[in-house]
Amino acid sequence: MRILCTNDDGILAHGLDCLVRAAQQIGDVTVVAPDREQSATSHSLTLHHPLRPVARGERRYQVDGTPTDCVMLAVEALMPERPDFVFSGINHGQNMGEDVLYSGTVAAAMEGLSLGIPSIAISFAGGDLRADISRLDEQVDVLVPLLRHLTRLAPFPADTLLNINLPPIPPGEQQGVRLTRLGRRVYSNSIQPMRDPWGREIYWIGGGDISWQGPADSDFQAIKDGCVSVTPLHLDLTHRVMLDTAEAWWRTP
Ligand SMILES: [Mg+2]
Repeated sequence: MRILCTNDDGILAHGLDCLVRAAQQIGDVTVVAPDREQSATSHSLTLHHPLRPVARGERRYQVDGTPTDCVMLAVEALMPERPDFVFSGINHGQNMGEDVLYSGTVAAAMEGLSLGIPSIAISFAGGDLRADISRLDEQVDVLVPLLRHLTRLAPFPADTLLNINLPPIPPGEQQGVRLTRLGRRVYSNSIQPMRDPWGREIYWIGGGDISWQGPADSDFQAIKDGCVSVTPLHLDLTHRVMLDTAEAWWRTP
């Protein structure tokens, strides 16, 4: 089994290292990852300058581009054969609810899916891990059987990727795996007004408080309950219920 591993935290991120260690127990791994952090770049594609892959060992490349660039370059140019799976992560922080719309981690999996490859995004719901990245290591033991199981389920339903969030607790305390839907994230005070060194007003997006809402089967509730959350995400964003009622909608004055 050929596995492409990428991420949005950059090729030096500890989460990628953990993902690679898990993936190597399942198949042959190629790493193509951004040369620097690309979190919250979503599904952006680099069109206005060339991309330069730099080899960082056997089947390991860094690219001066986005996660989407990395997957496209890996599949279309760098890998001699197409991968059977794309794994993206382990992201340093959760990707639940609306996070998936901003996430480069999820976008990389979506790009794999767009190229016809079953894809899985993996995130560690531990917030900012820079203080204690060792907590990621123990998740490798959780990921190996989970990824092995999920890859055996493939092909996944059409146009569907799997978005995994790992609870920030030791594997022995986790409460199993739950299939979930996206919850809702509520930010408050997430734009910080500041002054630049010349006294001019600037704004910095970040910080503030995050709270979550969601039904019992939401990703947020699964993490809160100590479960591994697996959310199937569909590439087609069309609202089918509205389509079904479209005729009545047009009749409305
Ligand atoms: Mg990230």
